[in-house]
Amino acid sequence: TELSKIRNFSIVAHIDHGKSTLADRLIQSTGTVQDRDMKEQLLDAMDIERERGITIKANTVRIDYEADDGERYVLNLIDTPGHVDFAYEVSRSMRAVEGSLLVVDSTQGVEAQTLANVYQAIDADHEIVPVLNKIDLPAADCDRVAEQIEDVIGIDATDAIRVSAKTGIGIKDTLEAIVKRLPAPTGERDAPLKAMLVDSWYDAYLGVIVLVRIMDGVLKKGDQIKMMQTNARYGVDRIGVFRPAMQVVDELGPGEIGFITASIKQVRDTKVGDTITHDKKGAETALPGFKPSVPVVFCGLFPVDSSEFEDLRDAIEKLALNDASFSYEMETSAALGFGFRCGFLGLLHLEVIRDRIEREYNIELITTAPSVVYHIFMKDGEMLELHNPADMPDLSKVDHLEEPRIKATILVPDEYLGDVLKLCQDRRGIQQDLSYAGSRAMVVYDLPLNEVVFDFYDRLKSVTKGYASFDYQMIGYRADNLVKMSVLVNDEPVDALSTMVHRDRAEQRGRAMCEKLKDLIPRHMFKIPIQAAIGGKVIARETLSALRKDVTAKCYGGDATRKRKLLEKQKAGKKKMRQFGRVEIPQEAFISALKMD
Ligand code: GDP
Ligand code: MG
Repeated sequence: TELSKIRNFSIVAHIDHGKSTLADRLIQSTGTVQDRDMKEQLLDAMDIERERGITIKANTVRIDYEADDGERYVLNLIDTPGHVDFAYEVSRSMRAVEGSLLVVDSTQGVEAQTLANVYQAIDADHEIVPVLNKIDLPAADCDRVAEQIEDVIGIDATDAIRVSAKTGIGIKDTLEAIVKRLPAPTGERDAPLKAMLVDSWYDAYLGVIVLVRIMDGVLKKGDQIKMMQTNARYGVDRIGVFRPAMQVVDELGPGEIGFITASIKQVRDTKVGDTITHDKKGAETALPGFKPSVPVVFCGLFPVDSSEFEDLRDAIEKLALNDASFSYEMETSAALGFGFRCGFLGLLHLEVIRDRIEREYNIELITTAPSVVYHIFMKDGEMLELHNPADMPDLSKVDHLEEPRIKATILVPDEYLGDVLKLCQDRRGIQQDLSYAGSRAMVVYDLPLNEVVFDFYDRLKSVTKGYASFDYQMIGYRADNLVKMSVLVNDEPVDALSTMVHRDRAEQRGRAMCEKLKDLIPRHMFKIPIQAAIGGKVIARETLSALRKDVTAKCYGGDATRKRKLLEKQKAGKKKMRQFGRVEIPQEAFISALKMD
């Protein structure tokens, strides 16, 4: 295809503002997919994505469009995830296209993720076309939202397109704007091949599929290619495009987006951001790479039934092949037995992986408290990364600790501002900025990541009745007075409940945790002390009193079936318990005990 007839774009939006619906409508109205094959949210492939209504993997589709000028254009849409955890995928796919549609719900206005995503588009030098969506709704206020886009983001919104992705109003205008307002890609057909590796994933039938954007040169079936970063060499088996179903083509030229397969064994071998060139007469210099994504939240995953450890290993290995941002290593816990310490990009990423293991592999899991990565500076000058509070070295050898901090941007209606400030303050936040966009306040806080990973987002939603939006980025490490708090149940330390806390908050946190555990652990035939401690010093304590009677005693031995049922129920309950010395702790305790409310 001629360069002047290609437009490559992405759609950026806050979650639920209608990105997927708009993509569906663009695909459908151009006849890319026949009406009878159209199902909602075509691009959100995985079940979990559909259920949670979020897009996790970036997806792509090629649309043929005959414009009002009578010319035929090829439009390549790369769909991007909207959630903060997947910001890295947004930035990666942004570099493969020249323009963005900025979708804003005209009944809601600009939200935190609108900002985060549009700044990424601006960073990638995109031409941006604002789209005001959901104009079919009575609450739509296009003028106000257009003004907000100009005030808050600083881009011209006078020519914003007014759309209802649901009913189809403005879809034709959107297609025309893509052709007229977005730039065509540039590139040279005769130059050595430079293809950007945008994404890769595992397909059960075809093996690893690599999504590429050709910058220069031509890629053909049978070509011998080389990955410039890893130096791996492959022969290209298949070249194609997504419509969104795969369709094989002969070649991909400059400006085009498509896929290749090349008998690549695992997704890990294909580094996102790498440059693909020809093995012979290849390019001399690679394209500027992407920032690699690093896991920021770690937690332990253990099988509830310890005989399922090998099944868990198998599940984790399979998932990791397909998700290079997910890391794992084996872990043994005195309390939980054999399991894995896993690293994730954020909490949503953690939940998605955990759900998939439980659902697709049918393994019940115990998830330990999520922890961030601390930097431990030893007295001998060495720096260690702490992924698991249980591994905290001997304090006498430690000089100081540093924790990761984030810059959080929160947009919230005025009336909830007070609650948001209080929440951020409670989480050791330092206010950086406070400004207004209409009746909405925009606050920027410097916060410790560990105060955010656990339940910050849930708390924020609950104190603002769902009206706040939130986004964050890492800003680096800073020293603080951090200590490891251990929990002892019946005088036995339960390693899976160890957490890192700020010294000033330790007593409060310890007390809250002991109280929680007292409610979560069932009573036994003996008294159980529950303690929180720093080093050897106990800072909080609760006692769970002993059970006086057998649970079945109140059945008076008369009703045999009822007694049996009760015992069976107890036995079933037991499966979800873990034995710690003489005490059984239910699996839910490991997460619930750490929630702060
Ligand atoms: P995404 O998270 O940005 O991908 O948003 P979705 O496309 O999943 O849309 C979120 C919700 O808004 C869904 O329930 C859609 O049906 C609905 N929606 C999307 N566009 C419109 C629209 O133009 N009008 C109305 N009334 N609802 C819409
Ligand atoms: Mg979506």
